[in-house]
Amino acid sequence: MKLRFRKYTVLLLLIVAGLKTELTAALPVNVRIFTTNIISTFIFSPAEGSYSIYGDGVFLMDCDATGIFQIGIEKDSIHLKTFENDIGNYATIKFVSKPEHAAFKIKCVFPLSLVRTYDDDLEVRLMPDKTQLLLINKVGLESYIAGVVQSESGKTNNREYYKMQAILCRTYLLANLNRHITEGFQVCDDVHCQVYLSRATENKVKDAVLTTQGLVIVDSDLNLITAAFHSNCGGETCNSEDVWAISTTYLKAVKDTFCIHKTNAYWERSIPLIDWQVYLKSKGKKENDSFSKPFNTNNFNQQSGRAIYYVDGSFKLPLKTIRADFKLKSTYFSVTPKGNNIVFKGRGYGHGVGLCQEGAMQMSKSNYTYIDILHHYYKGIIVVDLTSLNYFKQE
Ligand SMILES: [Zn+2]
Ligand SMILES: [Zn+2]
Repeated sequence: MKLRFRKYTVLLLLIVAGLKTELTAALPVNVRIFTTNIISTFIFSPAEGSYSIYGDGVFLMDCDATGIFQIGIEKDSIHLKTFENDIGNYATIKFVSKPEHAAFKIKCVFPLSLVRTYDDDLEVRLMPDKTQLLLINKVGLESYIAGVVQSESGKTNNREYYKMQAILCRTYLLANLNRHITEGFQVCDDVHCQVYLSRATENKVKDAVLTTQGLVIVDSDLNLITAAFHSNCGGETCNSEDVWAISTTYLKAVKDTFCIHKTNAYWERSIPLIDWQVYLKSKGKKENDSFSKPFNTNNFNQQSGRAIYYVDGSFKLPLKTIRADFKLKSTYFSVTPKGNNIVFKGRGYGHGVGLCQEGAMQMSKSNYTYIDILHHYYKGIIVVDLTSLNYFKQE
């Protein structure tokens, strides 16, 4: 595959540049919505277009924008009603858009939520414990991507950033389509998968998704990459093997000057010296090492670049362990004693692997294209249209 791939690289890139596919846009994704809420009652109404409603697979009725339905739990089944009439009890209820595009509004009553709007279809089931409802949005892939891009990166970025984010989100989705398959859906709408709070409303988000439709990132073996990203790398990203013990060809440490003046570039945290000493002892540091000496022998710094371990004499501890134990923003910190405290002087926010979001935002403001940004943070990758990818993979 590698040899064949190299032979066709130029041709592939030419095809990629010219192709636009309808393939992915039509592909529905089953997304659990309101994942973090325990929902027992909610209100459904069409926002655009109209819907056909099915109970346990049997057609019940059509509804347009004037329709308002309350869905709740009654006697171990799902109860559907309008304000005037009870409609019935079912194991599943489906709101299917007809004949083409439609969108719906949803508002939880227990617990109370703000109104959210989603594209396409809704399926409602009972969770196995029968005390809460499972809401699944069956949504076109590109509509879902637009919703994720806006949810994950807000409304204030520019088009190149949104294009880059769209490709990342699409790549992540297609590499994780089976993440919740045993639970009856594909992805959730929480940070566990990708945040998806509603459909996209911003035109520049929708345009960015449309412009990059079908584009994903693959490595040199044409496999979808793990599209890792974080808030701010502090000036240098991490090798994936140093954080997750998994080595890839593309998640490699890169120097990054684009993020060092952004919000999350620097942080500081102070803890009592005694707590630090007790902690180090609990991790195996021998007391007669530096505890009996002046504590300033315990300086540790990463001024000349990122380290993997905290080192003090013969004692060493993975920085990611310290980060997790003290809930620090990153592993990119120095440790200095100050009176009865020790001070963590840190850089960056997040695990540091892959794309640095604040750096990428700055790159997009400095007129770098989404392709430039992706190649800066991911090494040896190819941005490819899914259709041409399938074509080459089938050879
Ligand atoms: Zn998830
Ligand atoms: Zn950075």
